[in-house]
Amino acid sequence: MIYGYAGTILRINLSTNKIVKTPLKKELVEEYVGGRGFTAKILYDENPPNVHPFSPENIFIVAMGPLSGHMLPSSGKTHFATKSPATGGYGDSNMGGHFGVTMKYAGYDVMIIDGKAEKHSYILINDDDVKIVDAEKYWGRGSAEVEEAMKKDLGEDYQILTIGPAGENLVNFACISHDFGRQAGRIGIGAVLGSKNIKAIAVKGTKGIPVFDPELLLEKGKKMYGDLRKKPGFTGWTPQGTAGITDWCNNVGALPTRNFQKSNCDYAEKINGEAVLKELKITDKGCFSCPTPCGKYGHAKTKIGDAYVEGPEYETLSLLGSNCDISNIHDIAYLNYICDELGLDTCSAGVVLSFAFECFEKGLLTKEDVGMEVSFGDFESAVYLLRQIAERKGIGNVLAEGVRGAAATIGKGSDQFAIHVKGLEWTGYESRNAPGMMLGYMTADIGAHHGRCWVLGNDVAGSAVVGNVNDLISGEQNANFLPKAKHENVVPIVLKSQHIRPAFDIIGTCRLQFMEIGLETSYYEEVFYAITGRKFSWVELERLSEKLWHLNRMYNVREIEGFGRKFDYPPKRFYTEPIPDGPNKGHFIELEAIEEMLDHYYDGRGWDCNGIPTSDTLVKFGLNL
Ligand code: SF4
Repeated sequence: MIYGYAGTILRINLSTNKIVKTPLKKELVEEYVGGRGFTAKILYDENPPNVHPFSPENIFIVAMGPLSGHMLPSSGKTHFATKSPATGGYGDSNMGGHFGVTMKYAGYDVMIIDGKAEKHSYILINDDDVKIVDAEKYWGRGSAEVEEAMKKDLGEDYQILTIGPAGENLVNFACISHDFGRQAGRIGIGAVLGSKNIKAIAVKGTKGIPVFDPELLLEKGKKMYGDLRKKPGFTGWTPQGTAGITDWCNNVGALPTRNFQKSNCDYAEKINGEAVLKELKITDKGCFSCPTPCGKYGHAKTKIGDAYVEGPEYETLSLLGSNCDISNIHDIAYLNYICDELGLDTCSAGVVLSFAFECFEKGLLTKEDVGMEVSFGDFESAVYLLRQIAERKGIGNVLAEGVRGAAATIGKGSDQFAIHVKGLEWTGYESRNAPGMMLGYMTADIGAHHGRCWVLGNDVAGSAVVGNVNDLISGEQNANFLPKAKHENVVPIVLKSQHIRPAFDIIGTCRLQFMEIGLETSYYEEVFYAITGRKFSWVELERLSEKLWHLNRMYNVREIEGFGRKFDYPPKRFYTEPIPDGPNKGHFIELEAIEEMLDHYYDGRGWDCNGIPTSDTLVKFGLNL
């Protein structure tokens, strides 16, 4: 027995129908702790080198952390990993809800799926009983629709994750959906399940998880809840969730607008957090054990129909909203709903749509290519393209590859405004005026994703403290600010953020209580000890998080031909086109400064000038690769 863990790894081979359960090894727990630690180690060790992401041999991993499912705030996170069809490298994605904790209650810390089912199937787990079941009647249907149908068929006490038609059709940015609005959105993780003929995974778990000191956990968990409620961010941040940052981003010139051509819009107040509450919200919705429910379940009314949907949160508001120049909050929420039903990541979908609109605007795509006239700001264009993408029909088949792949097909210089890093579309922060944010996205192992680094507030405030976002963004903003952080000085803060943010994906809790509300890291050390009996400091957790940057970098070196420095460049637009107007008019970061930042960053990481970890660095972190 290992305190804090369910104790078993579940392996499912879909080609042979072989189901094997093995004890969770103590060495894996001691060295890699859980969640993202497990997925990074297992993917490196077990995935066949150079496997195609859609090959049956590409493994699909689900992993929970030691804190997942216990009595403390927001311990309901689940981590997924596989070789990414979007980047061709290490890919992972994290999701809230109730799925991971139920997997642990069923007895599993890790599930590794490989092979390919002969026919459309789903995986059914009821504690020890694990089956591969025919899913023909669910295939082709929307994510939430199938979740609802499966709950009717199996019972409300099953937790279900599904893919939509986009995952079935191997769209490079297909997501996994769960809990009627939670997604593991990024890196095309849903397409990998689709490639294995798996429509859904349903789990029911009724067991307990051994805890080292239950009384201590109760005491510390209660304290965490109590102290969290006393923080100003508790009442300041929770009502609007991430959508509350929209105005600030617009004011400081960080709100992507018209495919990142501009950095602010003149209708932010129509698509901000207040608009979500006023126009859409029916109720708050949260994940397992969460006292700060950031989900806003609402009702969107549009000229083409109504929809009930969780969201939109900030990334969706910015990328399906201002970045597509769509200014009606109901229309944005409806696009959010369509993405959820089709199983498309709203971040990548927003960037892909805006890329297509710009191609059309510049005459690189025509009505004949697309099937209709499409344009920025046109809701119906967006609906049409999303459906084409999910079905891989016509131009949708080109756009389904993501902006990197689509630009390669369309050509004519469209790569100038394909906004991605390593093949993953950039999320909702214009960074031409934010060197730290830009560097954090450039160097992330999975591509441009805010889950790996967020230092925009530091760029704006010139602060070197990673932590409470609200402290960084509150107070009067100078409308004419320029980054106070010098380019070479941003490296320490980027490294710190890159270690802290994904650290929560290792232990299995939500990061927002720390990032947005300011809950101190010492609480996590205390509950970690109460649960596992292991004294594991936050410093050690950050050190492990740092180690994973080297391990995943080496995975990318192994899997992506020619991988190195050139894969860390930002989109061309960001170092060649000044921001045309708004508070940061004229600003961009020149290539020379980007190269300098990379030099400093590689030095700070212990990587060579091509961005490859040196043998000394690997040895220092105990990586014998
Ligand atoms: Fe889920 Fe939001 Fe709560 Fe985090 S803050 S656990 S994402 S509801």
